[in-house]
Amino acid sequence: MGDCIFCKIVDGSAPADIVHRDERVTAFRDLHPAAPTHILIVPNRHIHSVNALETADAEIVGHMLVIAKELAAKENLSDGFRLVTNTGPQAGQTVFHMHLHLLGGRQLRAMG
Ligand code: AMP
Repeated sequence: MGDCIFCKIVDGSAPADIVHRDERVTAFRDLHPAAPTHILIVPNRHIHSVNALETADAEIVGHMLVIAKELAAKENLSDGFRLVTNTGPQAGQTVFHMHLHLLGGRQLRAMG
């Protein structure tokens, strides 16, 4: 996707503080962190949102969760962390390349 900022981060044409990269996913620190640890985990292949997932994507979504767990351990989030995937404008999705927010390092309020 030519104008997708997360595709550009994945292919290296836009800057980011990358904390993990493999053949399936890239993880980098959020530009506007909402917590001491705020990392975005994205599939390298452009997927618009959770609504665009197909059955064949189950493996990559599982891989995103495993990487999230590994990054949480690296960030010493042993007291807990939150994983969020905003889907659609009413949920607050602003970048339409599916991503998992990994948030931690402070007490997080109840969801509402
Ligand atoms: P969402 O609102 O759930 O779509 O999340 C998009 C997130 O991407 C927001 O938390 C933004 O701060 C973050 N973001 C947008 N552009 C960049 C960028 N170039 N580098 C890192 N994070 C970004």
